[in-house]
Amino acid sequence: MSAESTNEVVSSGEHADAVGFIGLGHLGAPMASRLVHAGKQLVVFDLDPSHVEALTRQGALAAGSPREVAERAGVVFSCLPTEDAAREALLGPDGAAHGASADSGFVECSTVSPETAVELATGARAAGAMAIEASVSGSTIPAEHGELVLLVGGDRELFERCEDLFAALARETHYMGPSGTGAMTKLVVNTLLGVNMQSLAEAIALGVASGLDRNRLLDVLASNPTVAPAHRPKIENARKDEYPVQFALRLMHKDFGLVIEHAQKVGATMPTTAVAHQMCSAESAKGREEDFSAVIQLMLELSGVPAPVR
Ligand code: NAD
Repeated sequence: MSAESTNEVVSSGEHADAVGFIGLGHLGAPMASRLVHAGKQLVVFDLDPSHVEALTRQGALAAGSPREVAERAGVVFSCLPTEDAAREALLGPDGAAHGASADSGFVECSTVSPETAVELATGARAAGAMAIEASVSGSTIPAEHGELVLLVGGDRELFERCEDLFAALARETHYMGPSGTGAMTKLVVNTLLGVNMQSLAEAIALGVASGLDRNRLLDVLASNPTVAPAHRPKIENARKDEYPVQFALRLMHKDFGLVIEHAQKVGATMPTTAVAHQMCSAESAKGREEDFSAVIQLMLELSGVPAPVR
């Protein structure tokens, strides 16, 4: 059945339990796919038609705008790259809030500042809906396996209503409190993600610059308990000197910015994070679409280590 013909069925209101998903990128696509495979009728939107098509091939239905997603689905997830995109998709002229009804619930999975999480939830509530942020810890591979960790803030009733959806996506779901608290927790977690990535990059550069055999060194690190599970797969990137995107460097750069800005607001002192942010900025300035683990390559370069021969 074509997406067009199935769209008519949903528009006629036969799928009151349909779930919406806006933003089908490296994280959103596998999350949306998990929901389809859990038997949910998904209505999706993304600015990139090829991302929409990847989901419609799995049985999701395409909508023409975020507003239409909300008109056709009760609970609407969004997973967008920037705060501006999250704002536009919810509150913009064709935003999902304009399609809201009293039954609507909005679940913001984009990483945004706590203030923006509150702003988005307030906008959704002004449209008569409930809202939570379900900030995501975990990347593409945990998303594919339903093993994310969700850090939730906002309307508790919506959180409870989403229980079965979260079960399809996550191995742990934490309700942290009112809107903004999920986003705050996410900034704490991503501080560790980004700073530990920088530490690992420096440690690899130290070992390789010392003349250690690169592969043997990486074997040691791959099983060493000092390397966190989130960073272990990045050792294979260092081995191949290839940094394909799972969590884009541009997004880590954005998150470092959110962390530093929030730290300033609450008076937290974060010297190591500030330096890691700067190194992420330096790699980011190259303008490449690459994984956040590409700081390994940067630290090797700065240590005078030539790229391995392929
Ligand atoms: P991405 O850049 O891979 O994908 C973003 C998607 O949103 C793209 O498909 C893009 O076409 C679409 N898009 C952009 N603007 C849009 C708009 N206005 N309306 C509709 N669609 C739009 O990003 P990602 O890696 O999927 O990350 C999404 C969010 O999740 C970010 O806020 C990121 O910080 C957060 N996050 C990502 C990861 C990860 O590992 N990738 C982990 C945790 C949190």
